[in-house]
Amino acid sequence: MAEYFTNIVGNEALRARLAHDVLSSSLSHAYIIEGREGSGRRTLALNIAAALSCQNRSADKFPCLECDACRKILDGKTPDVMHIVPERDRVSIGVDASRFIRSDAMVVPNDFEYKVYIIDPADTMTEQAQNALLLTLEEPHSYAVFFLICTSAASMLETVRSRAPVIRTEPVTDELLSEYIRAHDSRAVSLAASSEQYAALLRDADGCIGKALALLDPKRQKPSEERHALAEKFVKTLARPASEQARLELIANFSTKRDEVIPELIAISTALRDLILLKKTESAPLCFYTDREDAIDISYRFTTSALFALYNKVSDAIDALSRNANLRLTLTALTA
Ligand SMILES: [Zn+2]
Repeated sequence: MAEYFTNIVGNEALRARLAHDVLSSSLSHAYIIEGREGSGRRTLALNIAAALSCQNRSADKFPCLECDACRKILDGKTPDVMHIVPERDRVSIGVDASRFIRSDAMVVPNDFEYKVYIIDPADTMTEQAQNALLLTLEEPHSYAVFFLICTSAASMLETVRSRAPVIRTEPVTDELLSEYIRAHDSRAVSLAASSEQYAALLRDADGCIGKALALLDPKRQKPSEERHALAEKFVKTLARPASEQARLELIANFSTKRDEVIPELIAISTALRDLILLKKTESAPLCFYTDREDAIDISYRFTTSALFALYNKVSDAIDALSRNANLRLTLTALTA
């Protein structure tokens, strides 16, 4: 039996399509990989990269996951696979990153036949950055492959979308998810003994393996849960005209440490992005809210322009704090 992309759980149609494209040498030089956080978008990009360079590739099996190329690519130990992410304390990927990619892509690969760029999250690229990337996508070098990771391809420029087909990672069934996490994380096995907690974990992960693994790691779980609750409360409070007292309470909810406030603000901007997308279509893919009805309800309480205004204010606050602005003044201005 053929074994293609065995590292990817579920997503059979997608795996079959990509296997066909690899075998017929018809892979695109760029893909937009759309899907929810934790749904395996980065894993997919790395596995396609491994399939391209796998040294044991045969007609019925790839990537082998064992050869030197597969190991180096999947373990992040080759300069031929590059992750392009926002700079520290920034929420967006700017034009400098696109310029870097353009000049770097002129240099042939170091270890293998292909050079892979994973832009993540690509929907945070500024318009200028997307336009600059377009120049590279329009005249690709034969060895360069681009993966643009995002929650919703709709937020990318049409010109970029026309150069990069959209593929989508879908959440998997609870059965597949459970099977995977129990095979890969012993904490899942212990937790499964307590059926109530385990059921809650499966419910919160909602088919996203990456999310389930993050929830299993208590060190990662607590702050992110707290940030989520803070962001939810912040957005809900500002959905209605808020009293001075309510605004002061919101400010008091934030951390007193600058380094911790920035991720809190990023969580808020993710929530707002969901609400803006919901204004366009109620079936928009969500990356913050897990309860769609609840999120739609909150989006109704804002006008579209109010959502954009708040989103911009949050982005400005993140920028200001990255430039060492006064923490208290910045938060006061944000809730004013
Ligand atoms: Zn291999």
